[in-house]
Amino acid sequence: MAETTEKKIRVRYAPSPTGHLHIGNARTALFNWLFARHHKGEFIIRIEDTDQTRNIADGEKSQLDNLAWLGLDWDESPANPGKYGPYRQSERLSIYKPLIQDLLDRGLAYRSFKTSEELAAEREAQVAAKEAPHYVYEYADMSDEEIAAFQADAEAKGLPYVVRFRVPEDKDYAWDDIVKGKISINSSTVGGDWVIQKADGMPTYNFAVVVDDHMMEISHVLRGDDHVSNTPKQLMIYEAFGWEAPIFGHMTLIINGDTGKKLSKRDETVLQFIEQYRSLGYLPEALLNFIVLLGWSPVGEKEIFNKKQLVKIFDENRLSKSPAKFDNKKLEWVNNQWIKTADQNMVFDKLIKQLVYSKVVDPAELTAEKMQWLRSVMNVYMDGVSYTAQIVPLIKPVFFEMPAAADIPDSAKEWMNGDNVKDMLTLFIDKIEKMPIFTATAVLHAIREIQNEMDVKGRALWNPLRIATTREEQGPNLGELLELLGREQTLANIREFL
Ligand code: GLU
Repeated sequence: MAETTEKKIRVRYAPSPTGHLHIGNARTALFNWLFARHHKGEFIIRIEDTDQTRNIADGEKSQLDNLAWLGLDWDESPANPGKYGPYRQSERLSIYKPLIQDLLDRGLAYRSFKTSEELAAEREAQVAAKEAPHYVYEYADMSDEEIAAFQADAEAKGLPYVVRFRVPEDKDYAWDDIVKGKISINSSTVGGDWVIQKADGMPTYNFAVVVDDHMMEISHVLRGDDHVSNTPKQLMIYEAFGWEAPIFGHMTLIINGDTGKKLSKRDETVLQFIEQYRSLGYLPEALLNFIVLLGWSPVGEKEIFNKKQLVKIFDENRLSKSPAKFDNKKLEWVNNQWIKTADQNMVFDKLIKQLVYSKVVDPAELTAEKMQWLRSVMNVYMDGVSYTAQIVPLIKPVFFEMPAAADIPDSAKEWMNGDNVKDMLTLFIDKIEKMPIFTATAVLHAIREIQNEMDVKGRALWNPLRIATTREEQGPNLGELLELLGREQTLANIREFL
């Protein structure tokens, strides 16, 4: 970081409000935030909304709400503009316009009137000739006067146009990437003169991003790998205005751990939006902890970190060059670790919300007594719960909507067909009825007596008793479960079998 010591560290997260907060965006935001907080710099949010056709109504709000939920904060944004505002590109047109005009005046950009049909035909011919698609300069072989006359005529006719940047020929654009090291890309690979202002008058991303990063005094740009190919275009604009470019860092791809393929928003095997995890009851601390390990690693083996620790240990030199694997199991594990150490009242609240949301319990019926009971029920299952929504399928069939004896799976029915099962259940009923108090200890004691009296043990003993009482072949401690189910319900469940 020697080269940046004199410059104030200012980084940004610059979402396009074209969708909700995606795991990849959240990671970009998080690394920028950590970088800023670690180096005591500033972290700003800028909304890149110039592609009006792709913006969605609550895109900006969703992005910011979910970032705040994850625990990030920012120094400047549309809602709290600093001296560099406005922070929405659509509100900065008066800043871009004169700069585009300046490029036009200096002959570094020009009005381009090619129609989309012409461009498509050009492209088709190039593909047929096995050439990489590129824009062909439409004024080649025309004198300045001819160009001026052509443009005046087209403008008089009111033909739509875009403004294109005149790409220097065969020129290398190089930078020292924080993540990837030295990169050099030749101007011949960018596809020809590219659009800096669209037909609707909006600047394109590659133009606006440079103007904003420069004017907002952004010192470092940490962003996704998919922007590497945009960087030479952006460097052209820095060069055209004689501005110093920020330091770039392009973070590695995120791949689906199962398929090894780039994680795409269309991949439905992985939940990819922060709010999906939020509604499943994941803890924000856990998600943040998981995301930071996607393409970054701390020194040592430890993997569970809170925000404060991360700010302290964050080191941009440890951003990984190889793709980050999105591993769902790991996310569950991280969340489980966080749930175990979290404030249990808070976790319990989240669990209750899940039960209410899935209509397993009616909030109107949640008396203090019922809450106490639910708390005990959930405690019995908590070891197997990675995120709170998992509680619903665990407790619903046993405590709320038990399937009829006839509806249990075939594998369970097989256990119930054993010779001695009927006697075992009858004996169990007898013992339950005689218990002075119906507790987990008394239940386990009774089961041990059945084991001795009937000389049956292991799964042949436990499975029929568990299936008869809970309709399930596996589960947590049977004594505790039955105590919570209560004597009457337990007896009724067994009798249904008999
Ligand atoms: N709006 C761009 C995006 O969402 C930002 C890219 C950048 O950081 O320069 O991908």
